[in-house]
Amino acid sequence: MKNPMGKPILYRARFLLPISAPPLENGALLVDGGQIIAVDTFNNLAAAHPGAAVIDFGDTALLPPMVNAHTHLELSAFADWAAKAAEPAAPQDFVDWILWLVRVRRSISAEQLYESLAAGLRSSLLAGTGAVGDIFTGLGSVSAYQHSPLHGRVFAEVLGHEPAVVAGRLAAIAKLLEHHPGPSLDWGLSPHAPYTLSSAATDQVFAFAERQSLQCSIHLAESADETAFLQNGSGAIAEKLYTMAKWNFAVDSVPGCGPVTAFCKKGRLRHGDLAVHGVQVDPAEIDLLKQTGCIVVLCPRSNAALNVGKAPVAAYLKAGVPLALGTDSLASSSSLSIWDEMAFAGHWFPGEAGPREWLEIATLGGARALGLHKRMGQLTPGCDASFQVVALPEMPGINQLEEILCAGGADVRVTHLYLASRNVLPGI
Ligand SMILES: [Zn+2]
Repeated sequence: MKNPMGKPILYRARFLLPISAPPLENGALLVDGGQIIAVDTFNNLAAAHPGAAVIDFGDTALLPPMVNAHTHLELSAFADWAAKAAEPAAPQDFVDWILWLVRVRRSISAEQLYESLAAGLRSSLLAGTGAVGDIFTGLGSVSAYQHSPLHGRVFAEVLGHEPAVVAGRLAAIAKLLEHHPGPSLDWGLSPHAPYTLSSAATDQVFAFAERQSLQCSIHLAESADETAFLQNGSGAIAEKLYTMAKWNFAVDSVPGCGPVTAFCKKGRLRHGDLAVHGVQVDPAEIDLLKQTGCIVVLCPRSNAALNVGKAPVAAYLKAGVPLALGTDSLASSSSLSIWDEMAFAGHWFPGEAGPREWLEIATLGGARALGLHKRMGQLTPGCDASFQVVALPEMPGINQLEEILCAGGADVRVTHLYLASRNVLPGI
């Protein structure tokens, strides 16, 4: 999209973080036809393109939008629902938390779910998020996505064990696939987790994903309870979750191995699929994820809240496993801001990744996870003009910039969010 005067536009800020290159002071983007044409200092670009219109964001930092590669936006009103259900306190144990979530979620109407999803879409934009990997269960709420400028993927969730029920769910999803969920959103599929799908259902779901060429996003290797259940069918998942749900079905297990082995060795997960959490893995499974070509989506605040442990971030980076960040839902996390998630991650994984790596994981890493990296996640010629502009209470010098931004969390104020050349913040 050209600007109304038909001229290229120079977007200037005190700092520009291309992510794919070191930060620039007094940096600028030259945009024409909706695409980034050049990235350089403002002085160089202004001298080379004297006819360009200038939009100057002043004492701010300009960088790619955040990417929330794993979230459940339909649960954005969860705290209100839990309070109204007289269940305000979230359990800090993984299986007790699942039971709590199921109890609260059961009483929620389709209208409430729609409003909650719409609110989550708006909150994401306000937090500087330009793309999401959103898990979607309430298929009737799909129209909530249609007015959102967010990019990314909506992963329709499947769980259960009865082949006829799972086939019915997949048929309903197949019908939705006829239309994009939103103007800049595509479909994906979310087999919920290894412990909520029977072996037969797992076969059905992954065969469907392959047939429909859908990227998969699965909660995988999240807790020790999951590993214990897959190995010998015992523990809190069997005793509490299966009892409550009245389930009694065989899961996709490989005795003696963890969930990553069970899902990669059997050829379930394919190149480009998302393994969400990836906490309970051993070195061989890290290699297996790398060989398979999966991206691990870290959700550290959720992992801390549910006491499931820490993902081996340094080992993933050393092995070359691509990483992204997700907030998970507001049922286990306090905000939908990847700025907050990154600030928490920097503290929670001391010495495992530096500020530059976290900034890349939060932007380009997420864009790669959702297949958007040629258009978003880095400020480089050929990408869409998609970026955020942020201010801090006090801007640091360029040598401290990445560290201060990485740790900034709620101190980072998103003043503008451009997606495909359009400023999407006003009026949302
Ligand atoms: Zn999740």
